[in-house]
Amino acid sequence: MLRCYCVCMQEERDMVELRSGAYMPQIGLGTWQLRNTAQTIVDALRMGYQMIDTSGDYGTQPGIGEGLRRSGLAREDFYLVTKVEEDEDAYAAALNNLRELRLGYANLLLIHRPPARGAGVELWRALCQAQADGLTVDIGVSNYSTNLIDELIEATGEVPAVNQIEWSPFGYSDEMLNYCKEKRIVIQAYSPLTRTHRLRERELREIGFKYGKSPAQILLRWDMQLGVVPLPKANQRAHLEENLNVFDFELSESDMATLKVFNEEYSSLGSLAYV
Ligand code: NAP
Repeated sequence: MLRCYCVCMQEERDMVELRSGAYMPQIGLGTWQLRNTAQTIVDALRMGYQMIDTSGDYGTQPGIGEGLRRSGLAREDFYLVTKVEEDEDAYAAALNNLRELRLGYANLLLIHRPPARGAGVELWRALCQAQADGLTVDIGVSNYSTNLIDELIEATGEVPAVNQIEWSPFGYSDEMLNYCKEKRIVIQAYSPLTRTHRLRERELREIGFKYGKSPAQILLRWDMQLGVVPLPKANQRAHLEENLNVFDFELSESDMATLKVFNEEYSSLGSLAYV
């Protein structure tokens, strides 16, 4: 179980504790539409990224597996998140993900999105079984509303460790934030940089100027100070480095509040799945 990292990482950072007692890095690398995957993973791990997010449907798992092996890191020195699709045999999909990654276990396995009807209780039971069999340390969901999470808990008694959802100051939900705090579910923020669509907003840039930080860094820091774990994707080396360089400043309470007011339930993908 991941509790600390070896000295080969740039520096040991604070972790987020999951309800199971396992620890997750405070920021991770997204890999949807990542190009040149194996080399990017090698570079990112060398820079100090400790968590990688993928999914059976991203097509990046073989490249990630290759990059992890080339990095020479021991298994306990990185944190791997992957997902199964809502229309799959979830247990078989978990096994297939591990086969593509050439890993013995994932740190976190998620249902990628709820099925068209209901919460996917059978998918959730399959993930519980995968966890019991050691295919993953923790299990969770993605794109779930509070009602759908409640359905899973009522049916099985198992609370997801994580809900991975689209999240930025331009699109988030206080109701979800409070619900997850109360249930000790960690929110992972996907598309935390709004897929670049909102990075040029004047007020966001003005906050960045005050701290000598870019708009992207302000968005990532806002997540982290809320206790939310961002998963920015970056192909460019300068972006990879910039997105990790968010541990040396703190947003004031007043700037945190200003950013919160940006909320208009914005989604860079169409709509916030959980609202
Ligand atoms: P994102 O991370 O918000 O944005 C990625 C874009 O931002 C890329 O075009 C990237 O450019 C650019 N970028 C990165 N760092 C930057 C910086 N410092 N300054 C300016 N631009 C920067 O979008 P995302 O890929 O949609 O979301 C992140 C990850 O979340 C995904 O890769 C995936 O792992 C996960 N995700 C999960 C779900 C789900 O349903 N669970 C859905 C969507 C995404 P370059 O690539 O050119 O560097």
